Amino acid sequence: MSTSSQSYPMSGGDDQHSYIHNSSYQKAGIDGVQEKARQYILENLDLLNMNPNLSTFTIADFGCSIGPNTFHAIQYIIDIVKLKHLKESQEDSRVAPLEFQVYFNDLPNNDFNTLFRTQPPSSKQEYFSVGVPGSFYGRVLPRNSIHIGNTSFTTHWLSKVPEEVCDKNSLAWNKNYIHCNNLIEEVTEAYKVQFEKDMGVFLKARAEELVPGGLMITLGQCLPDGVAMYETWSGSKKIEMFNLPVYFPQVSELKGAIEQNKRFTIEMMEIVSHPLEAVQLSNNFITSMYRAILSTVIERHFGGSVVDELFRQFAKKLSEHPIDFEKCKKQMVYHIVLKRK
Ligand code: SAH
Repeated sequence: MSTSSQSYPMSGGDDQHSYIHNSSYQKAGIDGVQEKARQYILENLDLLNMNPNLSTFTIADFGCSIGPNTFHAIQYIIDIVKLKHLKESQEDSRVAPLEFQVYFNDLPNNDFNTLFRTQPPSSKQEYFSVGVPGSFYGRVLPRNSIHIGNTSFTTHWLSKVPEEVCDKNSLAWNKNYIHCNNLIEEVTEAYKVQFEKDMGVFLKARAEELVPGGLMITLGQCLPDGVAMYETWSGSKKIEMFNLPVYFPQVSELKGAIEQNKRFTIEMMEIVSHPLEAVQLSNNFITSMYRAILSTVIERHFGGSVVDELFRQFAKKLSEHPIDFEKCKKQMVYHIVLKRK
């Protein structure tokens, strides 16, 4: 599976909404919640406790894609740490000058060349960059090596599609739906089991990579408790093709999955409505959005030649069977800061 171009700007989109590609959707999510995390880190990240001789501060972004959101996320973390460090060095002369090492992680087929080519020049003076190819559903960095980990809009991508949902003989067969829209109970259960398993693996690996006292900042999309995917606009699609390894948990499921891991405490958990929820939804917007998110995945599975035709048909289907946006329930963005015990 390749999801590496989820943040690519739209190509060939000729409708009015083609500028709203997935990257800006996610960026809006990041901007909206930065302030609280900033406050939390300023108050709670205890550099001296971590190590008074600390001279290299390490940050990792898991599922960084090709930028630019990862650069904003990293910069904002560095700015807070610098401020915190300045304060601490004024209070304690033992505090050593700080350099920053940043690990950019994504799947091996991510376009790391584009990432490093488009890195803002200022970042070259600010930190040393390393690309880390590998699935975050497993260890990608050495033990006890990271001070702050970050991940945004990534963990809804599961490590795989649960096998049952593609098996016509299984009760959990997902018929002609392409993802888990919570219409078929057995399908939801299969995705939920996979999500909990993956989240467990993700957190176990991060707990090993982070130093004790290190922070893991997690941002992503979820559903309010009691809301099913089919009740939201993005759950309305039914394209009769294949299943995506994507699952949006309800808030309490997410919290439960995190609490299963005993090596982190939840320091902050905030649910915010997504800034782009205010965007007037339209068929064009939805077609553009899906095209930006799914083109690469579809190309890999079915070949590049089908993409134009698929989205032409998708747009046609949407206009023939319009979604009643007024009736759709909203998704949410969560923002969590975890602390490694
Ligand atoms: N964090 C960025 C990109 C989000 S898109 C932002 O907020 O804009 C999701 C990213 O997660 C993609 O780049 C995808 O390749 C990556 N991803 C998905 N599954 C992954 C896995 N198992 N290991 C590492 N990266 C993964």
